[in-house]
Amino acid sequence: MSLEQINNLSEFEDLINTSDAYYVLDFYADWCGPCKIMLPIFERLSKMPEVATFKFAKINRDENMEIIQKYGFDIPSIPRFFVVKFNGNGQFDKVNIKGNLGGSQSKTDLIMKLHEIAKEDGVVLPNTSPNYQEPEVISDENLKVAIIGSGPSGLTAGIYTSRANLDTTIYTGTQPGGQLTTTTEIENFPGAWSTETKQGMMGPDLMELVQKQAEHFGAKIKIAEVTGLRVRTENDKPKFDITVNGKDESFDAVIIATGAAARYLGIPDEERFVGKGYHSCATCDGFFYRGKEVAIVGGGDSAMEEANFLTKFADKVYIIHRRDEFRASKIMQERAMKNPKIEIIWDTVITKFHGEESLEKVSLENLKTNETSEMKLDGVFVAIGHIPNSGFVENLLDRDNVGYLIPQYRVAPDQRVSSYGMATKIPGIFVAGDVEDTIYKQAITAAGDGCRAAMDAEKWLEEAHN
Ligand code: NAP
Repeated sequence: MSLEQINNLSEFEDLINTSDAYYVLDFYADWCGPCKIMLPIFERLSKMPEVATFKFAKINRDENMEIIQKYGFDIPSIPRFFVVKFNGNGQFDKVNIKGNLGGSQSKTDLIMKLHEIAKEDGVVLPNTSPNYQEPEVISDENLKVAIIGSGPSGLTAGIYTSRANLDTTIYTGTQPGGQLTTTTEIENFPGAWSTETKQGMMGPDLMELVQKQAEHFGAKIKIAEVTGLRVRTENDKPKFDITVNGKDESFDAVIIATGAAARYLGIPDEERFVGKGYHSCATCDGFFYRGKEVAIVGGGDSAMEEANFLTKFADKVYIIHRRDEFRASKIMQERAMKNPKIEIIWDTVITKFHGEESLEKVSLENLKTNETSEMKLDGVFVAIGHIPNSGFVENLLDRDNVGYLIPQYRVAPDQRVSSYGMATKIPGIFVAGDVEDTIYKQAITAAGDGCRAAMDAEKWLEEAHN
């Protein structure tokens, strides 16, 4: 039971020729925040007797495209875990890929999935219990706070609540580290700046650092998605049951910091192309477009930043924007406009995607002249804003017409039900960050929000439990 590193095609082919074991392969990249968060979980998994039948290996995706292409691993995003079966006879093809376990998830989920794969293959795992549960560290003494979300707001809230001696659990959601893990350099987060290189920090590195800071003070990180939240009363005090992996876990207060998810264009048939030429995250998927022609849709800071980033790989990057001016900040616009690989297509929208297996071309319409045309493209990236991740509480809390949760500071003073600015209408549930921020949406404002929500939660708990 150990974790190996496969460094190149020849080492992979040595395994194909010599090993007859099941392997779980972790495709990662050095710059990828969720990969860094998953690595310790993968390391722990590799030492567990429950899955001793499997061997575990890491493969740096960026350095091993040869393996990926030659053996048909489908990796739309990272980290990505595959179970493969080697036969020791040099024969390895897609049939030997027994399972694609997807990306970020909890150790318990990974164990469950390995059980399923083994069972389908008729393999009996030693010391197995299909109902395996990760042991919980539960403090009886401290009040328990659940923080839902692990971007700047959730992690900052975690630093504050754990330093306040509250038993804190941070549920990461499907994108550990939040949206900053899909961005490149952050130049405007105070303090995250090198006086030597005159550069900011990479988004994933910044989030990894803040997570470590929260863990240092005792916050527990759980890589899991919260799908429900209910309120009940126990001993005359409110209790909050949150649903994770189909089971409920109880807390004394909850901070919702679930952020926002990328908005797609909403044109017919677009879902068919997601991950197959149509993407929402240039930093995650731009790598696949080396030497290709791509377009980015949008006119905000994200579009400018991502267009510049894409020129590292693509030969040509078009920015397709529906108006004749950008809303992006001047400095970001200038960088994009000065980049010789970038061409701007003004007043234009994409009306249709075309392609068999993956995207081949798009239909365009000029909104000023109504002229239509077609354009061959290898990839399209959208950067047209985000939708708040608030669906899981739509029946419990008030949301505005876009879906933003409404904290008390946004409620008219005469209609407020709590004096705590980050409180919702339900005492004990607080909100922070992009899931409620309709205006600023910056990493630093999200972090500030997390601090405010945590301080409000701490004071409210003191009142409610004394
Ligand atoms: P944004 O500022 O809201 O811009 C969205 C862009 O998408 C707009 O240009 C909008 O066009 C366009 N758009 C919206 N719906 C569309 C549709 N259906 N079809 C075509 N185009 C559509 O979003 P963002 O760029 O993601 O930025 C969000 C926030 O994050 C901003 O506050 C921004 O400053 C910040 N941010 C900062 C940095 C940085 O400083 N490093 C980087 C990224 C983001 P219109 O202009 O015509 O409305």
